[in-house]
Amino acid sequence: MTAYERQRIVLRFADLIEKHNDELAALETWDSGKPYEQSAKVEVPMLTRLMRYYAGWADKIHGLTVPADGPYHVQTLHEPIGVVGQVTPWNFPLLMFAWKVGPALACGNTIVLKTAEQTPLSALFAANLLHEAGLPPGVLNVISGFGPTAGAPLASHMDVDKFAFTGSTKTGQVVHELASRSNLKPVTMELGGKSPFIVCEDADIDKAVELAHSALFFNQGQCCCAGSRTFVHERVYDEFVEKSKARALKRAVGDPFLKGIEQGPQVSNAQFEKILEYIKSGIESGATLESGGERLGNKGYYIKPTVFSNVKDDMLIAKDEIFGPVQSIFKYKDLDEVIRRANATLFGLAAGVFTENLDTANTLTRALRVGTVWVNCYNIFDAAIPVGGYKMSGHGREKGIYSLENYLQVKAVVTPLKNPAWL
Ligand code: NAD
Repeated sequence: MTAYERQRIVLRFADLIEKHNDELAALETWDSGKPYEQSAKVEVPMLTRLMRYYAGWADKIHGLTVPADGPYHVQTLHEPIGVVGQVTPWNFPLLMFAWKVGPALACGNTIVLKTAEQTPLSALFAANLLHEAGLPPGVLNVISGFGPTAGAPLASHMDVDKFAFTGSTKTGQVVHELASRSNLKPVTMELGGKSPFIVCEDADIDKAVELAHSALFFNQGQCCCAGSRTFVHERVYDEFVEKSKARALKRAVGDPFLKGIEQGPQVSNAQFEKILEYIKSGIESGATLESGGERLGNKGYYIKPTVFSNVKDDMLIAKDEIFGPVQSIFKYKDLDEVIRRANATLFGLAAGVFTENLDTANTLTRALRVGTVWVNCYNIFDAAIPVGGYKMSGHGREKGIYSLENYLQVKAVVTPLKNPAWL
């Protein structure tokens, strides 16, 4: 199929997503528990946006003519890799579908995509829409199943030419090994995080409180980029903690299909139990519980928005990725100290920096070992902005132009020039 045909199919798919916005959003909320308004107004439109973005790339992918020190015509062909295996997590099923399927199709690959066992529905619906848009059978194959029985075989399959994974760092290590032990297929890894959110003494405190709140609590706290270590300068610390507590107490938690709800239930009982264990550990290790700290009601996996202050770097809640509505606030004295502490983690996915001082912002953006730094904003995820990790948060970049590299091979073609006078 030509690139133009691929482009037209993906553009038609984007139109169909818009037409079925409400059904896709409802499936996403059913499966995951996230607020319906978030699914309908943010995530499904973002799927459309990403698909149009990558459709735009389909007919702009091409090789180069390159020079040689001799009578040769040299060109590079940018070819699809072939069969791509992809595995996605449950926290943003449709967005992960877009980050994976969009660039892979734009580059002309075929795909076997395994979705997370907790949230299989929306990707199946989306795949049907892609077929309705004209995608030939066999190009995109969505399989629902568990990790060890459906995901691992994809990572280790000899006929899979490339493997792209988003999930926890622990599983990432397993699939990376499977991929390398089989046919050494190239792998991209989008893994966990423990991202610092740094509030300097000169920051706009009210804005920083609100953004630190959403940086952590968005999507029930189940974000790879969650600002899960809020570092606040000692001069503004008490005011910041007081305001963060007040904001958490105001958070609207409940039935995700109701209007105005900010936080639904956690995705599963396993996550719910795990988060409550971390909260217990925070209390036992001596952090100050400012709000929440327990389940909400006695039905469903709802957890009260929890804020801990006086968190110390060696506590478990400061080190592990909790993946739940638990904010940890740390106090710091100066820039060198906060840089050292912010970087003292195995992860390196994202960071937030809050300051009105350009020099401070420039110092922090360069010193932090993370894949994304948001300055005076957070969680800005447009289609062209690359995302990915340093250290154990993964390797490779998704979204934007960077993701195309994950799905292309470069072939050099060299032919002699018969008449070197025309070199
Ligand atoms: P997970 O690692 O448990 O599962 C992710 C996927 O891997 C699921 O589809 C699962 O079925 C599959 N899987 C599990 N075991 C497997 C195995 N042995 N072989 C192959 N596949 C296997 O992670 P999760 O709990 O579903 O997702 C949350 C994690 O994902 C968090 O750590 C989060 O930070 C991370 N995440 C990262 C990004 C990013 O862009 N960096 C985005 C979203 C989520």
